[in-house]
Amino acid sequence: MNKTQSGQITIHGISGSPGICIGKAYVVDREGVNLIKRYPVSADRVQAEIDRFKNSVVKAKADHAEIIESLGADLSENLNILQTHMVLFKDKMLYGKAIDTIKADQINAEWALQKVTRALQDMFQQIDDPYLRARGNDIAQVSDKIMAYLVRGEDIRICDINMRVIIVAHDLSPADTSQIQLERIKGFVTDRGGKESHTSIVAKSLKIPSVLGLGTATHNVKNDDILIVDGSAGIIIINPEEETLFKYEEKMARFEAYRADIERDSHLPAVTQDGVALNLLANIELVEEVVSAKDNRASGIGLFRTEFLYLDLNRFPTEDELLKKYRELVELMHPAPVTIRTLDINGDKFNPFIDPVEEANPALGLRGVRFCLENEDKFISQIKAILRAATCGNIKLLIPMISCVEEILQVKAVIDKAVLELTHEDKIFNKDIPLGIMIEVPSAVLLANELAAHVDFFSIGTNDLIQYALAIDRRNRRVAHLYQAHNPAVIKMIHLICEAARNNDVELYMCGEMAGDPMNIPILLGLGLTNLSMNSGAIPVIKKMIRALDVSKTKRDLETIMGFDTVEKITQFILEHYKASLPYKDDDE
Ligand code: PEP
Ligand code: MG
Repeated sequence: MNKTQSGQITIHGISGSPGICIGKAYVVDREGVNLIKRYPVSADRVQAEIDRFKNSVVKAKADHAEIIESLGADLSENLNILQTHMVLFKDKMLYGKAIDTIKADQINAEWALQKVTRALQDMFQQIDDPYLRARGNDIAQVSDKIMAYLVRGEDIRICDINMRVIIVAHDLSPADTSQIQLERIKGFVTDRGGKESHTSIVAKSLKIPSVLGLGTATHNVKNDDILIVDGSAGIIIINPEEETLFKYEEKMARFEAYRADIERDSHLPAVTQDGVALNLLANIELVEEVVSAKDNRASGIGLFRTEFLYLDLNRFPTEDELLKKYRELVELMHPAPVTIRTLDINGDKFNPFIDPVEEANPALGLRGVRFCLENEDKFISQIKAILRAATCGNIKLLIPMISCVEEILQVKAVIDKAVLELTHEDKIFNKDIPLGIMIEVPSAVLLANELAAHVDFFSIGTNDLIQYALAIDRRNRRVAHLYQAHNPAVIKMIHLICEAARNNDVELYMCGEMAGDPMNIPILLGLGLTNLSMNSGAIPVIKKMIRALDVSKTKRDLETIMGFDTVEKITQFILEHYKASLPYKDDDE
């Protein structure tokens, strides 16, 4: 952090998405449900606090009743559990004890509820009978639902902000970010967040400037402070001096002109100087992003991250709800292909309504296909919806987080079950769609030849592959500087995948953010990749670069690059040898 005499403060963070914006700050302090504040409540406020608690119980219970109502036939086996939860909302041990604790300790409802829930969970843990022990989990789930309402009461909903402001938050989840109203919000900055976190991925697709991982932004910025957000450089400037403001207004104009220039040429084909045609596809999180994918001339959807629908609904959608969304998506894109990835929940896309278990190490926990195989009924619902939507367009099915051959065999068995159910139910579906897996766990790289025997295509997920190969939590700003696509180990891994795909005649895609960064394109072309899926905002820039490159040169250069042993040597080589074809760099920097 750097402060001048006039009070101008500059803080360095991590670029979330490029571009510059200038505007008034709007501070929202979102700590999330997991960090519960404790504060005393004076004797005359105790009854009001109890009423606040009771109110949250009523709302959470009403929500729960609605979920039970909406259950489709395919989820009705969960009815018993949900009805048990209905009773627990007013259970003496939870409800009565929480009210007693507010009174006795004169503390806020959140803290009282947390205290009572923890005590109950400890008590149930001691019980030998596994059935009764599991009741402890039911209580925790009900408590989470009440807690969400208690916290939400004080919370600002991102989608309700209707001023032309820059949001300053401690943290925004990917689901929060997807709620941002583009016509109102100029940009956003957060204390938390790391490179290629899902928050940054959503920010890029919105094409609004953002800086993440600032550490102390919410402490240093006050509402209505003037803020400059330089998303390209990853810095924010609080209460800028006049001269700084002037400089950034010019920079902003240059960036806008550059973006307009790139977009003007976006209809031209992605063909290199030596005639190699590339396939540039879009990664999307919401069906609504199809508009942006089309505007940016994506040749299809290379990755549809399906988890956002689950996160936004705060419950498992039914097969019919999923079918409606998937059908809408494939029909809008028809005849272009759409790759639907099955639920990749947990990791940084955690939602207590979907899975209330908090893990110490979520990136290494019950994430993606692991969660789906443990929750087979939910997995079958999603696969059935995908196979039904496949009668309306061009769909590929993609499975995330595969780490061994056993998992893909289990997935195939689940697909068979889905097909059997659909046949019995007399529903129209198409099971002849390509099946692919994400290669994003190091074990999958080493097993690529073995995995290839069971699938039609691979899609390299570099966001996670880098995280797992280099042991860097992609959300953690303290190690963000070590999260490097140019690490020689990463390039060697991608090389292995490319060889396995070629030798086994398996179609190969890359859908990690690495594919959308111009600094990586010469390497990826040299490795022989031709199907690149990225944030749709990056497509015009990457296309322009591809049109200036020569694949035979990139192949020769790759031999040199593969001989380098440090990130710096690789980055320097690209900067020196591809300077002319690299896009925008502000002269001022
Ligand atoms: C990846 O890991 O590279 C990827 C595309 O998936 P996600 O970012 O959703 O984990
Ligand atoms: Mg991934």
